[in-house]
Amino acid sequence: MKDKRLYSPKYIKYILDKYGFTFSKALGQNFLIDGNIVRKISQQANITKEDYVLEIGPGIGTLTEELALNAKNVVAVELDEKLLPILAETLKDYENVEIIHGDILKVDIESIIEEKLGEGPIKVVANLPYYVTTPIIARLIEEDLNIESITVMVQKEVAQRIVAGPGSKQYGSLTVFVNFFTQPQIVIEVPKTVFMPQPKVDSAVIRLDLKKELPDVDRKVFFKVVKAAFGKRRKTILNSLSSSQLTPDKDTMRKVLEACNIPLNARAEDLKIEDFLKISKTLPSLDIY
Ligand code: SAM
Repeated sequence: MKDKRLYSPKYIKYILDKYGFTFSKALGQNFLIDGNIVRKISQQANITKEDYVLEIGPGIGTLTEELALNAKNVVAVELDEKLLPILAETLKDYENVEIIHGDILKVDIESIIEEKLGEGPIKVVANLPYYVTTPIIARLIEEDLNIESITVMVQKEVAQRIVAGPGSKQYGSLTVFVNFFTQPQIVIEVPKTVFMPQPKVDSAVIRLDLKKELPDVDRKVFFKVVKAAFGKRRKTILNSLSSSQLTPDKDTMRKVLEACNIPLNARAEDLKIEDFLKISKTLPSLDIY
């Protein structure tokens, strides 16, 4: 039995029963069962026949199929080996798809891109397993891979933290981290009803366009400053940064903040990324890094 497309709930039930597959909560398995969302994800990722796509966690191949129809080449990395025979059946008609069995946090992404996806640049598209959303995004944006954009389904709350502006509760180290490397935007709000099984949380699709040029700053120092600032976000910026050994004493930190025109009683959430950059560049050179 096969309906026209893989997102049909009837077909998904049929194929899962055929292989005796049961969902793993631990692997974040909530499969898409809605054609509209699947199409919208591909559209919002701007996938065209020129594009090389890396998908993370294809599940039974619902989104993979849509990507295969729209892209030049798709490589999908799936951790659950029980899904491999299913994917072999569901995607057998698509010659431009390759499935790799592995953990996206451990596989050599650079080699996969070089060997399987060619010239690139690569667009990453995925309905992410939520238990590892942040480490996956971190890996993809930090490793200087040949990636142009990352369009991923995440928990709505995570999406809101990523796009938050200064002064809001959601604004934090994740916001600054992702905005350092990318230009993020929420592109689709997603109801729970489009998944099987339905997750407890709401979801959203975000697109992260990777910046071609990154701020000219010592990244290690920058992220130390951000971590120290948000680690004690209720304290004033003077106190949180002073207790972090970024400067030898509080007086030096006061001078740094004054030189950056940052009020000493501001809190981390009041500071723009540019402020964190200014602080990082103004700090005296210390051996502690
Ligand atoms: N793309 C499918 C869909 O939209 O219907 C499935 C999405 S489901 C939310 C997440 C998928 O990621 C599952 O297939 C799960 O087995 C897989 N997965 C979980 N952890 C993974 C990891 N570390 N590396 C690769 N795939 C993983």
